[in-house]
Parts: sequence; C-alpha cells; structure tokens
Amino acid sequence: MAKVAFLGLGVMGYPMAGHLKAKGGHDVTVYNRTAAKAQAWVAQHQGRSAPTPRAAAEGQDFVMACVGNDDDLRQVTLGPDGAFAGVRKGAVFVDHTTASATIARELYAAAKERGFDFIDAPVSGGQAGAENGALTVMCGGDAEPYGRAEKIIAAYARMCRRLGEAGAGQLTKMVNQICIGGLVEALAEGIHFAKRAGLDVEAVIETISKGAAQSWQMENRYKTMNAGKFDFGFAVDWMRKDLSICLAEARRNGANLPITALVDQLYAEVQKMGGARWDTSSLIARLER
Ligand code: NAP
Repeated sequence: MAKVAFLGLGVMGYPMAGHLKAKGGHDVTVYNRTAAKAQAWVAQHQGRSAPTPRAAAEGQDFVMACVGNDDDLRQVTLGPDGAFAGVRKGAVFVDHTTASATIARELYAAAKERGFDFIDAPVSGGQAGAENGALTVMCGGDAEPYGRAEKIIAAYARMCRRLGEAGAGQLTKMVNQICIGGLVEALAEGIHFAKRAGLDVEAVIETISKGAAQSWQMENRYKTMNAGKFDFGFAVDWMRKDLSICLAEARRNGANLPITALVDQLYAEVQKMGGARWDTSSLIARLER
C-alpha cells in the first residue's frame, strides 16, 4: 500500500482514482478544482480530499494528475498552491494529462531540481477504459522511478510501458492520435457511401469488419455513427487540442502530416455545427449535413 494523491477528477480521473483505492488498496487523497466532485468521490470511496494541489501532494509517495491541457497542468503543478511546492523529495509525480512533450520536459526538469521524479504518462482507452481499469498508458522519464510508478498505475492499466526519456510518453500519444484521425474520417466516408449506395450498413460492416478494414473505431463506433448519435465519448474539442499538439510537434521534427492537418480542419467544421462536445466519430455528421 502506498500513499497516493490524485489531482483532477474528470471523466478520466474520477474512476482512475477510484481504482487506486478499490483495486490498488492505496491510501488515496484527491484534489479537484470544483470541490463538489472531490466531495462526491470521498463519499463514494472513503478516501480524503485536500483544498489545494499542494496540500494534496504533501507527504505522498506518488502524486498522479489528469487535467485538461498544458496551461491546466501548469496551474496544478507550479505556483505557491501548486503540487510541486508540496511533493516530498524521492516521491514520483505521474502526469496522465494529454499535453505537449515540451511541458513534460519542463516539468521533468523542475521536479529534478526539487529532488523528486516526473513521469509523463498519457492514456488511451477513453472513458470506458478508465471505468473498467483497462487503459493503455504511454510513459516517458527515468527508468527507476518508472518501475516504482508502474506498480501503482497497474490499478487502472491493461498496458503500461516506458517508451524513453521525458516526453516520450506524450510523443507516443501523438502517434496514437495521428493513427486515429484519418481512420475515423475514412470510416465516416465508408458508412456515408454505403448509405448513399442503398446498402444495409449493418450487414456491410458486419462483413467487412471480419476483413482488412477492421478497426477499434469500426467495431465500437459504426452503430452510433449510422444512428447519428454522438453525445458520449471523446469530445471533438479534446481531439482538436490533441491534433494541435501533434501538428506543433511535427513542425519541430519535420514530420509530414497532411491527413492529420486536414482532419483537424474537418473537426473545426464539426465544432461550427455545434459539435464541440460530440464524440470524435461525429466526422460523419459533416458529410450528411
Ligand atoms: P474532463 O472531464 O474535462 O476533466 C478535466 C479535469 O481537469 C477536471 O477535474 C477539471 O476540474 C480539471 N481541471 C481542468 N483545468 C484545470 C485547472 N486549470 N486547474 C485545476 N483543475 C483543472 O476531462 P477528461 O475527459 O477527464 O480528460 C482529462 C485528460 O485526459 C485530457 O488531457 C484528455 O485529453 C485526456 N484523455 C481523455 C480521454 C477521454 O475519453 N475523455 C481519453 C484519453 C485521454 P473541474 O472539475 O473543476 O473542471
């Protein structure tokens, strides 16, 4: 059993923190900016909550965070009430936010200066993966503290791996999002075409999902795409945040991402249609306007 803090009880963080307590058996303290969510979590899981990230981090062996973007991460880590002011020497800070590799390296260096370790550890698997404790966790940072953190992360991971130095977890998550973007547009176009062709979409997908066109998106999203339902899942706003991180990194490393850039613009149109909070499979909605 370890002493663990969890900062950020959103769609992902709330169930992840729950697994640390229920499955991991750890002594868990939570912090959430909107205190009502922390109170609800404490009522459900019999842990503790703290009023600031700093107070939550004090005296812990591990501090995990899962907030929105780079700016949010700066707010919960740095400054007088930020977690970094409270983390004890020798502890490990694990960040599950999808953020830039630049901030991962910055926070890694800031943590080292203060005598503790930082692991960037973005996740994939969505809300269902968090709730079922079956996330894929992509990590960057030093090997020794990673080895300690991996045992804690195991409470909500199906796959956890260190891919390299600080920032490597975020870079791997970028690859994940690059692979998804074009694929979802292709799936949207396929379903849209099948409808226009007068085919039975269910029958078509049941057939081709047994062949080379199969994908997670196809198996998990074709029914709702066919029904025009998008009020769940991974929000378009979040995807645009992730794609902008990928495109900025590509400008730095010289990678050529024409489809990723195009899909980002297609999502901008979905936002204009009122779909900012729709699931990313809503790319089909702009084909069927
Ligand atoms: P969410 O439901 O919007 O939750 C965000 C959490 O961060 C909330 O607890 C929020 O606090 C907190 N927060 C945001 N800005 C903050 C700030 N400036 N200071 C303090 N706390 C702040 O988001 P989510 O879906 O859990 O996603 C969290 C991260 O995981 C994102 O980076 C996202 O890209 C990534 N991710 C999400 C999914 C998914 O399917 N949802 C999948 C993979 C990765 P309040 O409650 O006060 O707003």
